[in-house]
Amino acid sequence: MEKIAHRKYREILNRSFKKSFYQFLLKLIIEEKDKEKILKMFTVARYEEFRKDNDRSIWTELDRRSYQLRKISDEIAGIKILDIEKIFKDEQFKDKSNLFKNIYSQSFLKKEKFYEIYGDDMSPRYCSYCGISEDQIEKLFNKDEIKTKRWATRGRNMEVDRVQPNDEYNSELVLCCYWCNNAKTDEFSGDEFKNIIAPSIRMVWNQRLEKKDLSQIQVPAHSKNK
Ligand SMILES: [Zn+2]
Repeated sequence: MEKIAHRKYREILNRSFKKSFYQFLLKLIIEEKDKEKILKMFTVARYEEFRKDNDRSIWTELDRRSYQLRKISDEIAGIKILDIEKIFKDEQFKDKSNLFKNIYSQSFLKKEKFYEIYGDDMSPRYCSYCGISEDQIEKLFNKDEIKTKRWATRGRNMEVDRVQPNDEYNSELVLCCYWCNNAKTDEFSGDEFKNIIAPSIRMVWNQRLEKKDLSQIQVPAHSKNK
């Protein structure tokens, strides 16, 4: 089972850790301002504390703002984006990331739980939004009805989506196809996407399936994806 699920798990763990790492760093930048002081506070123990704090929403929010703002003059909590980036790129901080990653993995979604959601390679996987299955995707590909040039790395297997885009991976996860994942980005909520956008994507799939005499997508019962 584990082959694809294992790879997917590693991907989301890495992505999610990176985000947490930079949120912690951002918190220190805002609180300490001075590089030497930040370095002093940049310890495993402090990071552990940060992870235990249940309300990290303010840092999630500020982190999001720091990505949205890109002009040299933009500021977050009185600190120039440019100065924040300087610290983010500083090797003295980056070097510690492995130590921190250990701490992070401990409170991250358990591998077993993830395997439960992702399933093994023997049972069919469906997109929770548009409803297409891996099997249907493969058939469309074989009939030259899949257009993406990214097929070598994405598309064949379902991806994992956080229903609420800015939540951590410990919150509600569903399987979704590359195309829905790509269209949902971190902009749309689960409901917005499921109710408004996904039905149109399903219509396109169904047209292509029909053209090749393949069976149509069943409207997904959502929520459960096994
Ligand atoms: Zn989909």
